[in-house]
Amino acid sequence: MNPNSRIIIVGAGIIGSAIAFQLTRRHRNVTVVEGSQPGSGATLASYAWINSRDKEPRQYHDLNRRSLDMWPRFARDLNADIGLRWGGEMRWTATEDGAADLLDQAERLRSWGYPVIEMSRDHARAMEPGVVMEPFTSAVYCGIEGHVDTQRVVRTCLNLAQQAGADVITNDPVTAITTEPSAEGKSAATAITLASGKELPCDVLVLAAGYETTGLAAMAGIEFPQTTSPGATVVTEPLSPIFRNVVCMHTPRDLPEPLMNVRQFADGSVMVHGGTHKGSVGDTSDDDAEKLIGEVANFIPLLGTAKVKQIRRGMRPMPEDGFPVIGFADSVPNLYFAVMHSGVTLAPLTGEFAALEILDSAQIDLLEPYRIARFSG
Ligand SMILES: Cc1cc2nc3c(=O)[nH]c(=O)nc-3n(C[C@H](O)[C@H](O)[C@H](O)COP(=O)(O)OP(=O)(O)OC[C@H]3O[C@@H](n4cnc5c(N)ncnc54)[C@H](O)[C@@H]3O)c2cc1C
Repeated sequence: MNPNSRIIIVGAGIIGSAIAFQLTRRHRNVTVVEGSQPGSGATLASYAWINSRDKEPRQYHDLNRRSLDMWPRFARDLNADIGLRWGGEMRWTATEDGAADLLDQAERLRSWGYPVIEMSRDHARAMEPGVVMEPFTSAVYCGIEGHVDTQRVVRTCLNLAQQAGADVITNDPVTAITTEPSAEGKSAATAITLASGKELPCDVLVLAAGYETTGLAAMAGIEFPQTTSPGATVVTEPLSPIFRNVVCMHTPRDLPEPLMNVRQFADGSVMVHGGTHKGSVGDTSDDDAEKLIGEVANFIPLLGTAKVKQIRRGMRPMPEDGFPVIGFADSVPNLYFAVMHSGVTLAPLTGEFAALEILDSAQIDLLEPYRIARFSG
């Protein structure tokens, strides 16, 4: 790519920030435009579990696994305290049917080389004595998973990008994308307009605006269907350590909803995510948050005294078929999409692969199933 080419990234969540970081390691002319505050979208609300657990088919599992394995290098390159915690995830079941499903999945994942191991009741309890696993029919543990403080990741990526010459514009959303006809009946994105009235010309435009990308894509004449998936997480005031070995815990999937996921930040505050991908407990009211903490305290009694510090709400980026959209659009070949759920797990891979595709014109075969062309042009 010509060193003077102007690359604009719309959206400073974890995905736009990771792409900005990777691009600016090799290219100076990068502008990040954020409509609100960096990291304030899905990235803020995220449970931020780095994993490749419930990812099927195999090809999608492998994509997540590869990115999971890239996290330590990404963290090393960022060279800052980003609150990355490794130690694995444990979950257990309460019914015989639930145990059969969990152990089947664990066997399948092991056959893919993903180390989910079965735990006996005694072993699980000895590993996490502070968790009440009753009733208990089975448990599994996967030691290669972790979680991260997404706000720190975003801040660090953008700081490093700025130090390398990038401009970061905040609180100024993109309101229009200008396109012009180009060769072979296609078009090119030539500029964006911001709410402030500013117009910024571009040679490459990256849309990493999460759920809002659908509206931005329409401005360039591209259909991008997404499922509406509101999500929320509840963060407590700091507590003493709730786990002895693991860093993430999921309550039984075979009990009636809510399904609860729990992790603890380095400062002792605990994040609880309760719900499903169709919606989360805590989406709408603050009472829900207290209720959620009360329910999770049935499993982790230390949470019984927890005070809610913050409720984080956001719209999950969720392409209609549930899989990522990464890559250039056929009909607007200088428009690059980077929109996905599991964007925390996938951030290192997306940042690195997007830089290769944008700066080196690489066409990464692992990304072929995830092009926007499957929906549009
Ligand atoms: C409750 C919840 C739990 C989750 N749990 C996990 C998990 O455990 N593991 C995992 O890997 N993933 C998880 N995810 C998904 C993950 O958080 C997201 O995939 C990831 O944060 C997406 O990042 P992003 O940068 O693409 O989007 P966002 O963080 O939404 O960022 C998009 C940015 O674009 C900006 N923007 C929007 N419109 C415009 C505009 N017109 N102009 C300029 N800027 C604009 C927004 O302000 C926002 O800052 C979870 C998500 C939620 C909500």
